[in-house]
Amino acid sequence: MQNFGTIQRMDIAPSEYKLEPKVYEKSAHTIDSSLIDSDALFVVQQLQRAGFKAYIVGGSVRDLLLGHKPKDYDISTSALPEEIKPLFHHCILIGRRFRLAHVRFGRKIIEVSTFRMGDNQDDTLILRDNDWGNEEEDVIRRDFTINGLFYNPANETIIDYVEGLQDIKLGILRTIGHAHIRFKQDPVRMIRLLKFRARFGLNVDKESIKALFDCREEILKSSPARVLEEVLRMLESGSSLRFFKLLAEHGVLQILAPKLSELFEHKVQGEIFDYLAAIDEKRELCRSFLLSALLFPILREHIHVLTAGKESHFPHLGQIQDEAFFIIHDTFGPFLKIPKKIASSVVSILTSQFRFTPLEKKKRIRYRIPNVPDFQIALDFLSLRALIEPGLEKLHEEWLYYWNKHQKWKTKSR
Ligand code: ATP
Ligand code: MG
Repeated sequence: MQNFGTIQRMDIAPSEYKLEPKVYEKSAHTIDSSLIDSDALFVVQQLQRAGFKAYIVGGSVRDLLLGHKPKDYDISTSALPEEIKPLFHHCILIGRRFRLAHVRFGRKIIEVSTFRMGDNQDDTLILRDNDWGNEEEDVIRRDFTINGLFYNPANETIIDYVEGLQDIKLGILRTIGHAHIRFKQDPVRMIRLLKFRARFGLNVDKESIKALFDCREEILKSSPARVLEEVLRMLESGSSLRFFKLLAEHGVLQILAPKLSELFEHKVQGEIFDYLAAIDEKRELCRSFLLSALLFPILREHIHVLTAGKESHFPHLGQIQDEAFFIIHDTFGPFLKIPKKIASSVVSILTSQFRFTPLEKKKRIRYRIPNVPDFQIALDFLSLRALIEPGLEKLHEEWLYYWNKHQKWKTKSR
């Protein structure tokens, strides 16, 4: 077996968690409160002023301690959803499986959830998660110790029930409670384990790794939409290559997306890795662009096989479009389903690539801007290709020239 950077550590059963938390004063941790989003601080303040308990929790505390800028903030409170809503101008209550409040500040959303409890001893699949609880219970139902810390901005303390701060300092990823039970309760946690390992390079404790190998088949019991959301977030994360490699190495990819796993063993693997590495260097790319990066080498190889030995009768763009639809479903299916809107955009981006670089090499390129959706994204994608395939820069420049001209003409004729 390969070395996955596991680490031996004493397991702590949930019942053994101390109900007396460790409280770390400002001098004992590295969170700089001036770096915290002012709207998140405002939400905590409002809740505390109204007499409720409220903390910044989860991923945002972890990110701040690891020296990363949190991309969003989660707040946990003793207030019930109905008590949260009247405290803010723009607040809506959402979710069925997991009811929470969204407080809006322009386009920014701060998620506020009521403390809830979960049964850490019961290994049946969780279908709903709305049993309100207290502060301790709210920590213990969370997934990993590094995600189980509360931060109180009022006095700048960290409240730690699960030795999470110690694990962050030691670089250990460890489930809260028994890993086998926690993964069976919610198999998405296994994907999250690999996500945090990929993003932060943490070592995984021995029991969690064993549980991952034992429970990985369970992943098919979870909601495909939740798994897809984690996969898409990882494409956005800057660590997508490491994440997909980890999924493959731990045999999770084979269960989740068997065709993609097969392609990871195929000669196209190198090209897929190049594309993932290229998107990891970029920021703020839309999801259809990111999926296109993963799928482009696969579609090209597929078409290459279809047209092998042909000197003429290359598929036209309409046929390529159909093949692109097929590839999306074949690569991710049958478990993961790409929503129609994103799939259509991906198909458009991928098909346009064969307009830029036609299969028929002798064909003269006509720089006519077509009336197809997402053409500008397709053009940006050509610039990503140029990073991997030298020689395409010139082509990208040409198309960009005609695209800009076309845009000017469109504005004038309005
Ligand atoms: P990201 O940086 O991708 O947002 P995150 O850890 O913040 O990672 P979220 O989905 O935003 O992930 O969840 C916020 C917090 O909720 C987590 O830090 C964790 O404490 C808890 N949580 C999320 N998913 C689960 C889960 N499947 N089981 C238990 N706790 C969870
Ligand atoms: Mg988060």
